[in-house]
Amino acid sequence: MFGAGILKGLGVTLKEFIGTYVDDVKRIPSRYVGGRAEIEQRIGSEQTGLFTIQYPEERRKLPERFRYIPMHVYDAETGENRCTACGICAKVCPPQCIWIVRAKDENGKPITRPAEFCIDTTICMNCGLCAEFCPFDAIKMNHDFEIAAHERMPYLVFDLQALRVPTTYYAQIRPTDWAEEEAIRAAKEAEKAAKEAAKAARAAAKAAQAAQAETVAAAPAKRTPEEEIERLKAEAAARRAAQVTETAEETVTPATAAPAAPTAPAQRTPEEIERLKAEAAARRAAKAGGEAAPVPIEVAPLPAAAPESVAPVVEAAPPTTAGAQRTPEEIERLKAEAAARRAAKAAQG
Ligand code: SF4
Ligand code: SF4
Repeated sequence: MFGAGILKGLGVTLKEFIGTYVDDVKRIPSRYVGGRAEIEQRIGSEQTGLFTIQYPEERRKLPERFRYIPMHVYDAETGENRCTACGICAKVCPPQCIWIVRAKDENGKPITRPAEFCIDTTICMNCGLCAEFCPFDAIKMNHDFEIAAHERMPYLVFDLQALRVPTTYYAQIRPTDWAEEEAIRAAKEAEKAAKEAAKAARAAAKAAQAAQAETVAAAPAKRTPEEEIERLKAEAAARRAAQVTETAEETVTPATAAPAAPTAPAQRTPEEIERLKAEAAARRAAKAGGEAAPVPIEVAPLPAAAPESVAPVVEAAPPTTAGAQRTPEEIERLKAEAAARRAAKAAQG
């Protein structure tokens, strides 16, 4: 029907006109009394009615997630840049509007700090990918949109100095993000501190264990009175046994202490063999004389193989002036033989 659309449009206008004042009345104190505070409330889909502010004298409060040009965050307490010049933000930036130059130390070695960090704001499309990918929370999206200038250079290419903001500013414009990031950072630091504390505790326990082991090794063992008595008894018994052994060793005769006689025939020199032959001949002569010896003589017969077995040894051995080693039994036997010879001579004479 003719004019129905016009009436419908006028109805919408009238509704918004009335809604503007109804909304103001609902939000007492109204914008006319509260001024800027009322303006900050009128944000979001719940707003009704027409709303006009006197910009730039009046400004609406921006939503926390509002983003425009990136900003470089530094630690407000230390003044240290969070940025390590890793270059990730420059790599992920779709229009490639970030330039980074890494700083160097006095030896010319690159360090983890940026010497130059520039963003061409005329190219930046405010996507926020650089802030999303930064692993050190060093680059964040700023709320500042009032960057209009007449010339691109140098006003619209922001260097490090123009981009730098303290963490306090970031916490002010993005309190939710700041709180979340700080909670994550605190949890990580607490975890790291707990790990270090656990490591230190393990090291301390190990050192204490080693010290205790050393102390136990150095200190005498603790014994019960019964164990101590048994130990003293054992020591006394050992002392007595040692004394008895010493006494027995002192009373042993030289003959007893001498080593056992060898079972093998004694090695004799040719002179001794001749002497023994002479003695044997003397004994035979004495027997032939029919006279009994006054002293029984027991002369061990020479082994038949003795001369043959001795000969090679005599030929090979160097001449020596030392007498042959004899056993006590042999000495006694030789003494008896000598006495027999003397007796035989006396009988013949
Ligand atoms: S702002 Fe972040 S991502 Fe970019 S270079 Fe610095 S530390 Fe790396
Ligand atoms: S906001 Fe997007 S376009 Fe702008 S500098 Fe960051 S990554 Fe590049």
